[in-house]
Amino acid sequence: MPIVSVFMDVEDPLNPLADDAAMDVARLFGNAGVRGSFCLTGEKCRTLQSRGRRDVLEAFEGHCLGIHTDTHSYHPTTMELLADCSYAEGCRLALDAERKGVEAFERAFGARPSFWGGAGNTWSPEITFAIRELGIPAYSYALTSVPNHAVHRFNGAIGLPQTFSISEVDWSDDQRALIRSAGVLDALAKVETGWIGVFIGHPTKLRYTQFWDFPFAGGRQPMHPELAEPHPLEIYERSLHNLSAFLGLLERSFAILGVDEVLELPWHFRPPTVVEKEFFAETTSRNLRGAARWPIHRPALDPENIVRKTVDLIDSLEIAELSQS
Ligand SMILES: [Zn+2]
Repeated sequence: MPIVSVFMDVEDPLNPLADDAAMDVARLFGNAGVRGSFCLTGEKCRTLQSRGRRDVLEAFEGHCLGIHTDTHSYHPTTMELLADCSYAEGCRLALDAERKGVEAFERAFGARPSFWGGAGNTWSPEITFAIRELGIPAYSYALTSVPNHAVHRFNGAIGLPQTFSISEVDWSDDQRALIRSAGVLDALAKVETGWIGVFIGHPTKLRYTQFWDFPFAGGRQPMHPELAEPHPLEIYERSLHNLSAFLGLLERSFAILGVDEVLELPWHFRPPTVVEKEFFAETTSRNLRGAARWPIHRPALDPENIVRKTVDLIDSLEIAELSQS
């Protein structure tokens, strides 16, 4: 049975009920006895502080917390920022951008993020340089990819893939939630790697019918972004109930650890085989080309320079395996 980490993203800086939803979800994890791995943006940290929501920040105490970029879907996104520059220039730009997020995170929580979680579907290899410089050892939702969803190290940073996910639409419907929960629990039991990540959504998307960043789609950066329409309370409460039931089942069958605890496990790193390198080049390139089509990105964002910069670093790739004790 693999060790499991459960991820959620907290990033909506606009819609006011998203703050309470984040707090509700953090407490719900605690009540289920599950230590979550939550990704928060720098902008969300600033928003919670400016709104005086100490209670929300405190609800995350005890969970494992990562930084989810500074501003997520605001433009330029990670990929937009780094699409056209050299690797060296990109390292400087990425470090400047990510430092802002980490500083906001540290002001809010008084601690360094345990990991970096890519926003939406956007990434460039300079991120690995930036997070290392900022003392962050790992990135989740890795678009870098090796066979069997294995943990790996790339350019000195540990890449944690996201393998399973359950969506907010599933949580809001009892029948769908039941089927998806059972499907994921079943699939998890068959996993042969030592660790696996499960992504179960965004608190804000449990509360609102539309995703907060919709106004930023297609490269738009509106001055006054439109707010989303809340779900009826009944639907929100149903989602929380279904989420809680899943966490209870998960907790009874698997060891659930935060990313920080996972990084402390006895990993050992080995060079990839030729086949694993080929898999990496092909799959990672495909992931990056797919990410360029994230609806938030500006139209016709060209990922090829990012693909090249990534594949150029292939000799830094190592496969991580948990030592058998
Ligand atoms: Zn996100």
